Amino acid sequence: MKKVKPLIRSKGFSDENIFVKNSNNTELEIKKKINKIKEKLDFLNLSNEDQKIIKEILNQNDIVKNNHNNDEFCLAGHELVEFFKIPENKLHRYLIYRYKYNLYPKKKIVGDYPPCIQIEPTSICNYRCIMCYQADKSFSSKSKGFMGNMEFEMFKNVIDELEGNIEAITFASRGEPTLNKYFADMLKYCEGKFLGLKMNTNASMLNEKLIHEILSSDIQTIVFSIDAKDKESYEKIRVNGKFDKIIKNLELFNNIRHSQYSKNKQIVRISGVKINEDQKIDEMKKQWGNIADIVAFTNYTPWESSYENEINKIVKPCSELWLRMFIWYDGKVNPCDYDYKSELSKFSFKNKSIKEIWNSDYYNFLRMSHLEGKRGDLEPCARCINC
Ligand code: SF4
Ligand code: SF4
Repeated sequence: MKKVKPLIRSKGFSDENIFVKNSNNTELEIKKKINKIKEKLDFLNLSNEDQKIIKEILNQNDIVKNNHNNDEFCLAGHELVEFFKIPENKLHRYLIYRYKYNLYPKKKIVGDYPPCIQIEPTSICNYRCIMCYQADKSFSSKSKGFMGNMEFEMFKNVIDELEGNIEAITFASRGEPTLNKYFADMLKYCEGKFLGLKMNTNASMLNEKLIHEILSSDIQTIVFSIDAKDKESYEKIRVNGKFDKIIKNLELFNNIRHSQYSKNKQIVRISGVKINEDQKIDEMKKQWGNIADIVAFTNYTPWESSYENEINKIVKPCSELWLRMFIWYDGKVNPCDYDYKSELSKFSFKNKSIKEIWNSDYYNFLRMSHLEGKRGDLEPCARCINC
């Protein structure tokens, strides 16, 4: 399979690589919801920072993408789907969170907490996808010491710090989250605490019990990582994956979802990595559109060879340093998953809080190096195409 060779990678979805079902909410409906927030603005208990943000948003004429330039706040199609699923009394929180998520990395603002945290319930995976660090044996072989599961106690401590300080938690990183035996307990522990709870899974472990645990949880977005429309391409990319089994699992998921959880507001996304030109969003939409509310491709980065990729000349700062932090299964905190062997990591959640790490001198040094065009001095940033 001939892989694409991107020279630079920006985050998010490009319009040609995303299909959003039923995205026909009118600007009038959006305005009505915004006006409701305006009416209760004086009664919201917000920090000064959040008050400033919400006022800026409410002062805009509209918040729909296409009407805005890059540095203004706006919601893209997939975000509008989320916007319409959020209860009205929490919508201001959603807007503030998306503002921080979309604009803090662009404006290079560092808040008390990152706009998003990725938690890794496990670094173990049953697949070896060709674009993934799991394909690097110096990482995924048991003997190398990188594999393990997060203890439930540590997970609870992480969530206790994040509740009320952050809205977006994603269960995903270097492994398949559903392989952690406490995964269902983790979902339960997050109940009612976040507005952007998301999980990424390869769908291989789905069974009736797990499907009920997911659908009865407070997860807002369920992402099934699938990159192809047919068995041959799927199994070439998702090594160890069995296409027929995935189809069966997703049909079971879909049946249970529609028969027993039809009132749920969860969003289901099929998301693939676009690693070759044969992957077409229209074909993906045809194959998976009956299961998913959103079908999308994210841009490819050669994660499978992070430490061997050629050193490049990119000087643009990497958005990750203003957007996210990753908490590995053992408590290690890392700026990104491109650096899956944690060369950039200096801290563990076991002895420092997330707030302290995010605002540490070391993190500010990383940010400053990027801002001054010196990302080439850092490994593996020197070899990374993420911007
Ligand atoms: S991409 Fe996901 S499913 Fe594939 S090997 Fe990596 S962690 Fe596992
Ligand atoms: S390795 Fe550096 S440039 Fe690449 S994603 Fe991580 S922080 Fe960003």
